[in-house]
Amino acid sequence: MQSAIAEALLPWYRANARELPWRADGFGAWGVLVSEFMLQQTPVARVIPLLEAWLSHWPTPTSLAEDAPAEAVKAWANLGYPRRALWLHRAAVQIRDHHDGVVPRDVVTLLSLTGVGDYTARAVAVFAYGDRHPVVDTNTRRVMARAIDGTAHPAQPRPADLDQMAALLPASRAEAAVMNAAVMELGQVTCTARSPACGACPIADACAWYAAGRPDTPDTRRKQARYEGSDRQARGAVMRELRGATAPIPQQRVLADWHDAAQRDRAVLTLLEDGLIETTGGELHLPR
Ligand code: SF4
Repeated sequence: MQSAIAEALLPWYRANARELPWRADGFGAWGVLVSEFMLQQTPVARVIPLLEAWLSHWPTPTSLAEDAPAEAVKAWANLGYPRRALWLHRAAVQIRDHHDGVVPRDVVTLLSLTGVGDYTARAVAVFAYGDRHPVVDTNTRRVMARAIDGTAHPAQPRPADLDQMAALLPASRAEAAVMNAAVMELGQVTCTARSPACGACPIADACAWYAAGRPDTPDTRRKQARYEGSDRQARGAVMRELRGATAPIPQQRVLADWHDAAQRDRAVLTLLEDGLIETTGGELHLPR
């Protein structure tokens, strides 16, 4: 079944892949690394304009490393999870100081950079440098769960996901990179979480879930907490206020009218602990 999936997906991807900035020839490893940081929790349409602005302002890791972390946090704007901006800045400093300003190629070295986890390390090695590794994201997991395991939802991420994806990779390095991208693309545009378009799917004939009549199997994944009313929402509001400020703000004036003072204080405290904001003389500001 795996080989039928691989055979159908490669030509489908070559004919149908969306044109995305990070897929352009010569986009470069720095661009791929930045895009992977941004795409971790944020949809493609919101990432593209900010990615372009980011790369024209900081075209190399060294150019970012030489600017203040606060500038990275500001440029992160509304992408959410602003820790990623700080981590990306730290990674840029490490690339400048320990890798001659060049994004490393090998997965183990990539993993030593701040904020780079297993997925991102593999994605950079494969999509920027063309190396042969399995790369598994949420979309990949959903496609494999349906097509191979015959379940409606993937399980919690597990090491076996990499083995499953590795079994789909063609022997050639170049084709293996395309296959990783093709499975993700299928999950993003066709085999979506809410309404899989099986009638238009290139691997429908080889899909176990489709063959079984699309059974409604249980979803065993942990649910993400609601954003509305959460501490995350309060943290986002603090960050927005400090990003928009032209000078440090006295701590008691930050989110002064927030409906839950204890939640606001928690948000400020955890942002300070995470290094996303700093305090000087009782005033809050972005990290300098
Ligand atoms: S046939 Fe349907 S469920 Fe199976 S991979 Fe294609 S879109 Fe997903």
